[in-house]
Amino acid sequence: MMQLHASAFSEVIRRLSAARDPACLLDAGGNYLFVNEAWNRDGAAPRDGQALVGTSWLDHFDCAEVRRLHAEFLFHALKPAHGARPRPEVHIVERNTSTSAVLVAMKMEPVLLDGGPVAVAITHTPVRERPIDEVYPLVERELGDYRAADGTVTQCACCRRVKDPSEEDRWDLVARLVEAPPAGAAQGLCGMCRELHYGQPSEE
Ligand SMILES: [Zn+2]
Repeated sequence: MMQLHASAFSEVIRRLSAARDPACLLDAGGNYLFVNEAWNRDGAAPRDGQALVGTSWLDHFDCAEVRRLHAEFLFHALKPAHGARPRPEVHIVERNTSTSAVLVAMKMEPVLLDGGPVAVAITHTPVRERPIDEVYPLVERELGDYRAADGTVTQCACCRRVKDPSEEDRWDLVARLVEAPPAGAAQGLCGMCRELHYGQPSEE
């Protein structure tokens, strides 16, 4: 059984190693079995990428809601509904920088053994990149404008806009805060990302 696992995995690992886009392999417990070079270079990964192996994929999401939603994605990939065939699923997320609005397709592909998923291969493929100001109006305001009564600044973990606590459902794209969030910023999910990228009803 272990040998079968090993050969099923080695084939997938060979394919992921050769991929130019960031790719990784998670075991059935959601822990990293393998990350390719591009995943190591990916902004989301800690610099010592190889140290990821054995750690939990979900633990690396700072935002509790995003972590919960990704846990659901992982659960679906590993435990398809009774009678349903395991199949790859693609989720589109935003990975914006201060200059580019980037959409990334996160493909989650079950690795099957005897017809059942035993691992999940994940690849991140950029699918659209546009100048940030073509997608979001750029806002230049003081950081203080984004502090809630308790002093916290909340940033959307997906689009990187910051929440304006004084206005219902207003999130601003402040370019300098996209790549350098203020220390201690809380990670949340804006209504638009929640609906558009995670298929959840907007709470706002
Ligand atoms: Zn957002």
